[in-house]
Amino acid sequence: MNDPTCKACQGSWPKEDHFIADLGLSKAYLHDDQFFPGWTIVLFKRHATELFDLAPTERIQLMEEVSLVAKTLAQVYEAKKINYELLGNQLPHIHWHVIPRLTGDPAPLEPVWQVPHSAVSLSVEQIQASIARIRQRLF
Ligand SMILES: [Zn+2]
Repeated sequence: MNDPTCKACQGSWPKEDHFIADLGLSKAYLHDDQFFPGWTIVLFKRHATELFDLAPTERIQLMEEVSLVAKTLAQVYEAKKINYELLGNQLPHIHWHVIPRLTGDPAPLEPVWQVPHSAVSLSVEQIQASIARIRQRLF
């Protein structure tokens, strides 16, 4: 991971201080915007933009890693539903947005991208507390 033009390889997105865990083929990070509490990124470590670019064994393992994060977030945040978003228009790494949708969600029928809102940035202490809660349940 040393492509100088890649935000993920350079560690500028997702942010290193939002790192939750190394899952094997991927790493999990708390997303910058916590308007939807628990919004997490699962980033495939190497460059690949399409699921069909992966070997079948990698694809299976990656889905296990995404599922583990999703199940953990569902428990930690008591989510009514987990959203999984795999877009990849801006980054040459497959990465999933794994987003708990909670009771009280302002638009439970809509994808998060359709919900106008100001980004919610947590304090360093809040970020660390959220990461600790997730890690505690993850393994
Ligand atoms: Zn990269």
